[in-house]
Amino acid sequence: MNIVIFLCGFFLLMLVVARGFALFQTVAIATACFLLAFTVLDGFSLFWGVVVWGLYLSLVLFFLQQNLRLSYVTKPLLNRVKAILPPMSETERDAIEAGSVWWESELFRGAPDWEKLNNYSPVKLSDEEQAFVDGPVNELCAMIDDWDITHKRLDLPEEIWTFLKKNGFFGMIIPKKYGGLEFSAYGHSTVVMKLSGRSTSVGVTVMVPNSLGPAELLLHYGTEEQKDHYLPRLASGAEIPCFALTGPEAGSDAGSIPDTGIVCEGEFNGKQVLGLKLNWEKRYITLGPIATVLGLAFKVYDPDHLLGQEVELGITCALIPTTIPGITIGNRHFPMNSAFQNGPNSGKDVFIPMDYLIGGADNIGKGWRMLVESLSAGRGISLPAVGVAAGKTTARFTGAYARIRKQFNTSIGRFEGVEEPLARIGGLTYIMEAGRLLTLSALDNGVKPSVITAILKHYNTEMMRQVLNDAMDVHGGKGICMGPSNYLARPYQSIPVGITVEGANILTRTMIIFGQGAIRCHPYLVKEMEAATMSDNDAGVLAFDKALTGHITYFVTNLCRAFVYGISGSHLADSPVSGRIGTYYKRLGQMSSAFAVTSDLVLMILGGSFKRKEKLSGRFADALGYMYYASAVLKKFEDDGRPKADIPLVEWSAKYCLYQVQIALDEILRNFPIKSLGILVRIIIFPLGLSLRQPNDSLGHRVSSLLIRPSEARDRLTQGIFISEDINDNTGCLEDAFAKVLLAEPIERRLKASQQVKPDLTSYQQWIDELVANNVLSGVEADILLLAKAATRKVIMVDDFTTEELLNKVEKK
Ligand SMILES: Cc1cc2nc3c(=O)[nH]c(=O)nc-3n(C[C@H](O)[C@H](O)[C@H](O)COP(=O)(O)OP(=O)(O)OC[C@H]3O[C@@H](n4cnc5c(N)ncnc54)[C@H](O)[C@@H]3O)c2cc1C
Repeated sequence: MNIVIFLCGFFLLMLVVARGFALFQTVAIATACFLLAFTVLDGFSLFWGVVVWGLYLSLVLFFLQQNLRLSYVTKPLLNRVKAILPPMSETERDAIEAGSVWWESELFRGAPDWEKLNNYSPVKLSDEEQAFVDGPVNELCAMIDDWDITHKRLDLPEEIWTFLKKNGFFGMIIPKKYGGLEFSAYGHSTVVMKLSGRSTSVGVTVMVPNSLGPAELLLHYGTEEQKDHYLPRLASGAEIPCFALTGPEAGSDAGSIPDTGIVCEGEFNGKQVLGLKLNWEKRYITLGPIATVLGLAFKVYDPDHLLGQEVELGITCALIPTTIPGITIGNRHFPMNSAFQNGPNSGKDVFIPMDYLIGGADNIGKGWRMLVESLSAGRGISLPAVGVAAGKTTARFTGAYARIRKQFNTSIGRFEGVEEPLARIGGLTYIMEAGRLLTLSALDNGVKPSVITAILKHYNTEMMRQVLNDAMDVHGGKGICMGPSNYLARPYQSIPVGITVEGANILTRTMIIFGQGAIRCHPYLVKEMEAATMSDNDAGVLAFDKALTGHITYFVTNLCRAFVYGISGSHLADSPVSGRIGTYYKRLGQMSSAFAVTSDLVLMILGGSFKRKEKLSGRFADALGYMYYASAVLKKFEDDGRPKADIPLVEWSAKYCLYQVQIALDEILRNFPIKSLGILVRIIIFPLGLSLRQPNDSLGHRVSSLLIRPSEARDRLTQGIFISEDINDNTGCLEDAFAKVLLAEPIERRLKASQQVKPDLTSYQQWIDELVANNVLSGVEADILLLAKAATRKVIMVDDFTTEELLNKVEKK
């Protein structure tokens, strides 16, 4: 009985701490009263009384007696931290300090404030952006023939280049005063999404000048002269830019570029001026082969001390006309059959004046910070939009195809086996879009959330990989046989491009997301690290002590919260809404506190060596990433006005994300740096075991059904992609057949019910004619069936070629 009362009291105390109802002093007094009452009522045996009171008094002493704490805890701990704290390179520090933190820090810290989430303003296109998307973007989409681009020309046709330049596609991020379109991040992302859904080659060509590159760098760091000169020319397409960082030796480890710029005097335009002699070798540079202005990153050295005492001045960025002597623009690479321009370039003893440096000589050595700062916003825009484009197009076209394509006299989309990939396509598309919208809301409000944009880049491109694989499986041979009527093979081929660029995914997941997230989002880690590196020892001890006590309170609160939420099946967690959707908020709250406890412990145990534990870091990235997506899904549902028809998508997506969080935490616990502690943490954060489940079959069925019939939810899910009305277009004919097949199905069902079966030796046309002659079908009904049959045939057929045609020697007849 005593133990039950004690545990109940203890649980109540944990609940108070978990919910943050009281300050430390109040909790301490309440605990003392409870223990006193329990002792007076003979609740403890002598042994347990000593243990519990001992523990309590040591804790109180620890918090209240600063001098004791400083001598016996803070100082020894600080010395240990100093000994194990790894040195941080300047490039690492720049990467960590770039950008800002946002919603992810709420999830990281274990107590997400739902009101904050729901107060983030939803994104909306301005009238001008909407008109651009409905006008020039639509027109361009209709002009695109991706097979012609990727197989015949291996380039965009001249009329598309001209259209892009004339309509300002290359100046979406450039302010109007320089002749640009000055679009919001959402506007920019929406254009890229629509174009990429139509052609990766066109999408990438448009995306690059608008993402990390000369325009972006000039806008933030350029001198007024540089802006006035280049921005109008970039906006009009008079200059084609590229940005060259990567080389054969330095890929992911871009900070190690061997390319050099030596400070020296040289002749420029007939005068002797101070400048730099550059030598470089770059590769994989998008738009490089046709660029007129080359953004270049290199390391500056000043061996003759023309600028000062230091010799190694660091990574620096310049804008260089490609006509300058000494520059070699190489051939083209051929990335996965995509036709966007991409290739190597190099420079030998190229002399440039200081004016060519972005921001001038003052910005020597600031190149790395400039790049990571720009990347911390940019990677949340383009590639995530490409992922969403893949999701929306596969959802729409695969759903339609699964309805049109019949085997065993049934639409393949009705087979349970096909329902599984279809449901994944629907759910993952909803998740990607929710993530895109939430992130763009941050970017359009001036936040540069570097951890979130890394999450979006990684997981949207990974989900893109999944949906395209699923779409391929559902299409069977239709997806595999390439040609003008194949709308899947080229996006499928270009998956690895999205996976590799702007931070290759393995590295982004295992090094960047949690590596930066831990330092940026943890409320005390940076303070502790800063205290450990302070030159004034006494000030360092006091600063460390302050951070340490805050850290302990933070940890204990999360520990209580994780247990209380876990043991109550998340019922004691908060939710801003009631009902079934409310349970997902609560589950997410539970996962967030479990994440906070687990990550805090792992960071405490591993310290700086955590950097090398990429497998653990990758799993923390998964947990943080999917918590972010789960919250984005819930927010999207609210922002959309809680449409009832979307509930299957919301539930599938929320369940999927939460389950991924649970898997990641489970894997972390199974590989915990101290095994026994891992077991203990598991008992605390998952006291009822691993209770979250994948979306079940019936939910999957509801989602896949949404994809194979016209509905508001289907239109909302695929909103923003180009839908062709041309029946000779490879996707236009799909839309056409979808509508015709739906019209024909009730008639087919009636024929089936009245056991009208086409004889084997009779053609379809003959059979229909006979049914009309026998008054089984009306003339109108016969037309509906025949039109559906013809439209279906157009969709299911694939291209064939002679060898000559395949070798591109002759035009296909
Ligand atoms: C089509 C295309 C277009 C591009 N456009 C441009 C451009 O315009 N400008 C430009 O400067 N660059 C561009 N790039 C370069 C691109 O950013 C790099 O390819 C990328 O940074 C990876 O470098 P890498 O290909 O040499 O791979 P590597 O660095 O060799 O990496 C190979 C694999 O190892 C992993 N890896 C490496 N280090 C680690 C680590 N510490 N932990 C875990 N995993 C790790 C990576 O994630 C990757 O999976 C482009 C590349 C391609 C393919």
